[in-house]
Amino acid sequence: MKGARTSGLHEGSEGIHRVLSGTDNSVMALIITDECINCDVCEPECPNEAIHLGPEIYEIDPSRCTECVGHFDEPQCVQVCPVACIPLDPQHVESRETLWQKYQRLQGLVPADSPAR
Ligand code: SF4
Ligand code: SF4
Repeated sequence: MKGARTSGLHEGSEGIHRVLSGTDNSVMALIITDECINCDVCEPECPNEAIHLGPEIYEIDPSRCTECVGHFDEPQCVQVCPVACIPLDPQHVESRETLWQKYQRLQGLVPADSPAR
């Protein structure tokens, strides 16, 4: 289900988990809401192994999520999610530079104590 990026925030949802998304120099986090149906589709698509099944629904490790920066032009989890339960979270913003630094750290291209999460 490759397609347009999901936008908007599902307010009031519980069990949210952050991932990263956005455009240009300003990027926003994404959250997986409790609308997740545990379909298992997103986990293998993540190039950073940031997605894992949590106690109830799938979760994303924000320290490993780069919004797919360095791998793809669009967040792969958003592209494949069949129920569009990974909306934007305007409360969490990271710069694209920070995402790039995180990508480099995950790839072992910079020291592990790099300030990028
Ligand atoms: S697929 Fe991309 S956007 Fe989704 S959690 Fe993994 S790195 Fe983040
Ligand atoms: S693709 Fe969407 S519904 Fe399926 S496990 Fe991932 S977040 Fe949940």
